[in-house]
Amino acid sequence: MKEPFLSAVPVLKHLEDAGFEAYFVGGSVRDYLLNKPISDVDIATSATPMEVKQLFSKTVDIGIEHGTVLVLYQKKSYELTTFRTDGEYIDHRRPAEVSFIRNLYDDLKRRDFTMNAIAMDRSGTLHDPFNGQQAIKEKIIQTVGHAKDRFQEDALRMMRAVRFVSQLSFEIEKETLEALKSNLPLLREIAIERKKAEFEKLLSGNNRKKAMGIMTQTNFFSYLPGLANQEKHFEQLLSYDCEGLNLMEMWSMVLYCLKLPEKSVEPFLRKWRMAVKDMKEIQSILYYTITRLKQEWTVYDLYSAGKNIIHSSEKLYLVLKGISEKESISYWLDRYEQLPIKARTDLAVDGSDLMMWFDKSGGSWIKETLLKIEAAILEEKIVNDKQHIKEWLKDCSRKQD
Ligand code: ATP
Ligand code: MG
Repeated sequence: MKEPFLSAVPVLKHLEDAGFEAYFVGGSVRDYLLNKPISDVDIATSATPMEVKQLFSKTVDIGIEHGTVLVLYQKKSYELTTFRTDGEYIDHRRPAEVSFIRNLYDDLKRRDFTMNAIAMDRSGTLHDPFNGQQAIKEKIIQTVGHAKDRFQEDALRMMRAVRFVSQLSFEIEKETLEALKSNLPLLREIAIERKKAEFEKLLSGNNRKKAMGIMTQTNFFSYLPGLANQEKHFEQLLSYDCEGLNLMEMWSMVLYCLKLPEKSVEPFLRKWRMAVKDMKEIQSILYYTITRLKQEWTVYDLYSAGKNIIHSSEKLYLVLKGISEKESISYWLDRYEQLPIKARTDLAVDGSDLMMWFDKSGGSWIKETLLKIEAAILEEKIVNDKQHIKEWLKDCSRKQD
């Protein structure tokens, strides 16, 4: 066994010493068997949330109704989830009730795919009643139990299936794929936030091409916000080498390929319930990428875009142009660093200076004058120095008179 499991072994032992069972489960065990980097370990236990809270001094209730308690132990945190079964599902998305149980088998049985239904005890022994290891070896995504029933219980699992294709490059097993094809309309019941989380993992996966191939074949896009009938545009997206793009850049890339009119971009992102900050970032990257495709960066564009957006937009520009050398990114970032000012607040003057110099009260002239000063500094007509700016302004107004 290796990290991060090793650090968590004492947590499992503590539960066992108190007479409970505890195992590593879920994605961490799957990724361990795949020799992939492991993000965080999930722990399943026969102890109820109340029992967990009594056993550990520092805990946080993060989803007690689902049986999940966060345990802080030696400066690390672990999600402990009580063994549970899900009751009848309503609306194809959530169980009416969850029941805590004391046996591992039934907990594994409620999990989505066989590869995700393997438990590992603290000595490293695997408990694998649904042959998840075999599925991992054969690179197969297969539901635990009948796919049709499992997708009808929770339609999000179909979305998880294609996101795992993107992350793991596995195949979807035949019965599972058939059930996916015939149950896709149930995705309409699923909250956008849940779909978004899975779609973003799909976009970030190395094998998004393969996942989107399946989505095109199965009409999957019809059930995702703003993506119905966009297969052609997705083909274009897949023709680019998007390796190394981060999530915000991927969304900008999707939008670029969708070729939406500018006014439809924000409504599209709103449909996906994008956070305002992310929405702004994506829109900026898209705007400057399109500008960059038309012309080189101007000082104004560098100044108004800022470092991060320059970096992302230039990256996207290179992807769209099929240029693999990345030198231009550092070239434009250097040019940005050399700008005499980086923001309005860097100006050596402000509105009150202007009012004093010209003995005039406030008004729109202040903003206009500041813009003029800003432009002159960026174009290096004047230097960013209070006295210098004052003389230049007086000079300008004399010329105007
Ligand atoms: P990741 O590496 O992205 O975290 P994961 O498999 O750990 O992948 P999580 O969403 O963290 O995915 O879920 C943890 C585990 O909970 C899964 O491995 C699976 O066993 C179970 N699980 C998650 N979502 C569902 C679901 N919708 N239906 C059934 N089981 C699920
Ligand atoms: Mg996980």
